[in-house]
Amino acid sequence: MVAISVICMLILISTFTLYKSAQSRQVDLQGKMLNVEVNRVQRAIEVNLQKEAYFLVWLASSFEAEGVIDGKSWRVATQDVTRTFPFFSGLYWLNLEHKLQWTTPGTFSPNHLKADWKTSPPVGLNNMPVLSKLSTSDVLRHSNGDLSIEMLHPVIIEGKVVGYLGASYDIKKMVEAIATQFLTGNQTLVLSAGTVPFFGELPDAFVALSTTVDVIALGDVWQMTVWQQSNFDMSYFSLPMLIFIAGIVVTVLVGISLYLLEVNIIGRRAESDTVSMLKEEILQRREMESQLQFTANHDPQTHLPNRFAMETYLERSIRSDQDIVLLCVALDKLQEINDMYGHIVADQLLMEAAKRFKTVLPPHAILARVSNDQFMVACAGMSQLEAEMQANNIKICLEEEFYIEDNDILTTCAIGIAYRYNNDLQAEELLRHADTAAHKAKALGSRKVVAYNQTMQEQLTRKKELERAIRNAINNDELKLHFQPQVDLRTRQIVGVEALVRWESDNGTMISPDIIIQTAEETGLMQRLGHWVVDSALKQFSHMLDERCAPKCIAINVSGHEFQDGYLADYVIRSVTRYDIPPSRVQIELTEQVFIENLERNQHILNRLTTSGISLAIDDFGTGYSSLAYLKHFPVNTVKIDRGFIKDLPQSKDDLVICQAVVSMANLLQLKVVAEGVETLDQQELLRNIGCNFAQGHYYYTPMPAEELMVLLKKQRAGRLFPASS
Ligand code: C2E
Ligand code: CA
Ligand code: CA
Repeated sequence: MVAISVICMLILISTFTLYKSAQSRQVDLQGKMLNVEVNRVQRAIEVNLQKEAYFLVWLASSFEAEGVIDGKSWRVATQDVTRTFPFFSGLYWLNLEHKLQWTTPGTFSPNHLKADWKTSPPVGLNNMPVLSKLSTSDVLRHSNGDLSIEMLHPVIIEGKVVGYLGASYDIKKMVEAIATQFLTGNQTLVLSAGTVPFFGELPDAFVALSTTVDVIALGDVWQMTVWQQSNFDMSYFSLPMLIFIAGIVVTVLVGISLYLLEVNIIGRRAESDTVSMLKEEILQRREMESQLQFTANHDPQTHLPNRFAMETYLERSIRSDQDIVLLCVALDKLQEINDMYGHIVADQLLMEAAKRFKTVLPPHAILARVSNDQFMVACAGMSQLEAEMQANNIKICLEEEFYIEDNDILTTCAIGIAYRYNNDLQAEELLRHADTAAHKAKALGSRKVVAYNQTMQEQLTRKKELERAIRNAINNDELKLHFQPQVDLRTRQIVGVEALVRWESDNGTMISPDIIIQTAEETGLMQRLGHWVVDSALKQFSHMLDERCAPKCIAINVSGHEFQDGYLADYVIRSVTRYDIPPSRVQIELTEQVFIENLERNQHILNRLTTSGISLAIDDFGTGYSSLAYLKHFPVNTVKIDRGFIKDLPQSKDDLVICQAVVSMANLLQLKVVAEGVETLDQQELLRNIGCNFAQGHYYYTPMPAEELMVLLKKQRAGRLFPASS
């Protein structure tokens, strides 16, 4: 902008300079032109004066040639003079005494006679001998404003002056006529004899343009000045004005052009800035998009394709109608590895596993990590046999020891296989089939390879339906509690009851609590279910207390999952207080697993329970860790031998040995032993013989509703109860 202003300013200055110089040149030119005009006026005045003077001399000489002059000859000679010489206002004849005798025109009265003028001595006017006898007056100003010069010429006949021929010359008329002819309207002509102007007026103020010359007026010398009002031409078409206007126009045009140029340049610069910014943004966006795409399609830990990417790949392969084998590899115990070694080790294990996969997979196979502990391998054009061999190879390579951060880690896996051979299976279904097969393989125990079949899907569907129904049952409070009595083998009295959850489905089927519990755990309803069990068991036990038929103890099952919820212990303690039940009459049954997992934390919760007076029982003893040694760490007071060790008694010697060992160890640790699932008299007798004092099983009672139990208990109180064993 500053540059534009400077350039415009320079153009304006140049314009002004040019304008000024053009103006002065115009003044010069006008001065010269004025000089030319003045010279022409000067000549015209001089010539006019001389012409009339010559005429007068000629007229005088023509009288002299005639030799006589009278009134008649005067009239004849002068009658046309004023018409031919319009600046003569009149001619006249003076006699020797200078008395007026004749005038032409007849009415003419020469003013000069009144005027005080002296005839100049006849001079050789302008050194011209012809005019040597002509006398002229100064310029005479008359009262009517006229200006005249009087001319007088003697007429000599036969050597004697006979009179004088006079003429009044109208200077004003002559000068005005010449001025009109030669000068323009803004030019003023001034004539002066000496310093006093007799024609025209000098300007009051200074004028730039004026010229003064001498005019030889017969015997006199006048000064003639012509001055011009405006010193130069201000019309729009004059050169300076044109230069000035052109300069302004050029300035404006150049200014506008430069401005537009600058705007254009700035615009282009801004445009190119914007373009480069846009380019950068596009690059960043592309980078981000590719990152996002990578994130959307890959597993962040192993950088392998994820489930979504696998599905996309399958869709593409299916579209080109390829035969596909999809393996779903589920790693076992990943959660435990995570808990035991931390997530960094678990993550490294996953990455190592991904590397190992690649050592056994064919080059065209696609490997993806589809969930926390599941990988999937898609192979196009593989036979069933090849697929099973591939699955085995994977299993073997993953079962080799992993060495991560100084830890030797062993893991196993279960593998499900799904096939798409010449059918219209879609990608999503194929994935689901592989999932289902892996699920089944896991359910059958680790290290299994299971191929998908239709039954699996049906089972899965049924399971899903059941899950939904159970979820509704829990939500709608449709569950019930049954109670199974525990008997003292010495007295055969009911000493305790175990609360067992029940649900009768719409079609009248009794659904196993194992399924209810598993479903509740999988669907996040376990806490609600657990609280409901605790609450209703204690409520009904309280009712039995009120009815004064309650057994010594009520046992309530708590699953490992429930136990993770630290609030369960508090809930049990609060409920016991609420129903005003002596805590010593409440027992919580937990599996071995709960005791050994999260040892420190669980010990703390278990202590809270026992401190409040509630007792603990180890359920299903023998199925898990199977060591009584660790029992001393826990405030347990009952061990329940799992039904699995009882059912084959008395035939199974092994089970007998185990039962004997458990009973003797428990006796040593002063623990109460309850044998579960006693179904026969033989079993009862054997258990009694090895020192087991308490039992629970169908031989005595199956689980029953509270009302039925209370009838039993009331009978027992009345001494009218005779158990099956008696
Ligand atoms: P459990 O705690 O071992 O319960 C004993 C199971 O053995 C009961 O099965 C019972 O009906 C069955 N039983 C008892 N005597 C005999 C017998 O002589 N022969 C046979 N064949 N079975 C006998 P049920 O009621 O099906 O319960 C299965 C499991 O479900 C329970 O095993 C327990 O772990 C769990 N459970 C049941 N109710 C609850 C509950 O309210 N909460 C929790 N967390 N788990 C529960
Ligand atoms: Ca139990
Ligand atoms: Ca049990």
